[in-house]
Amino acid sequence: MSDFASRSFDLAAAREALRSARRVAVLTGAGVSAESGIPTFRDAQTGLWARFRPDDLASPSAYARDPLFVWSWYKERYEVCAKASPNEGHVRLAEMERDNAGGVTVVTQNVDGLHVRAGSRNVVEVHGNLTTSRCERCGNVDPLPPPDAFDLPPHCSKCGSRARPNVVWFGETLPELALERAYLAFEEASVALVIGTSSVVYPAAALPEVTLHRGGVLIEINPEETPLSRKAHLSLRATASEGLRALTAEPRTNG
Ligand SMILES: [Zn+2]
Repeated sequence: MSDFASRSFDLAAAREALRSARRVAVLTGAGVSAESGIPTFRDAQTGLWARFRPDDLASPSAYARDPLFVWSWYKERYEVCAKASPNEGHVRLAEMERDNAGGVTVVTQNVDGLHVRAGSRNVVEVHGNLTTSRCERCGNVDPLPPPDAFDLPPHCSKCGSRARPNVVWFGETLPELALERAYLAFEEASVALVIGTSSVVYPAAALPEVTLHRGGVLIEINPEETPLSRKAHLSLRATASEGLRALTAEPRTNG
């Protein structure tokens, strides 16, 4: 077994590792969006949605059966995202990318598009983005119109065909290109930063291991302990904003 569990970092060492990293790969999950008021899929299933199984709202068969019904679920979630703003965690990650010459890649399981809105450029959305639609025919991705001017279903701006929500549904595989980019980022990273994800579901569970196996540093930010915590060089019990503030704030200088 590896000796990672015993090689623990303190905060200063983790900050230095981040600052001097050639490349940083970041994996984010629901915990990063929570501070922007974005509910998880399950938490969004309130009111009239509560009586449906997730499969009834987010699967290829549900969409084939009743595309407008599935779209109306996503339209509501899109409205919540459109009203929400990126939080300090998103902003600090965008700043990290600006400041790190070697490159920062954010791989996110979130579908709210907030990393991009915060200014991150190198973002891999492995579960898609619910603020966009994808053409059923040609695959073209379009931003959704503003919520108040949004007629269901949307149509492709290139070919005019019906477009579907641009998210990965239950029973679908993750987009291959996005996964390849995600693996490459964690392979090349000297520091992997895992924030607000329980790290038990594929690919979240596998990506940080890739960096560890290549001798990189693993830093975790999560209010709760996760299966990854004991493997991390440093695991901060904190929200995304608190943790990123601790890791990236400028140290006080004299004078
Ligand atoms: Zn099209």
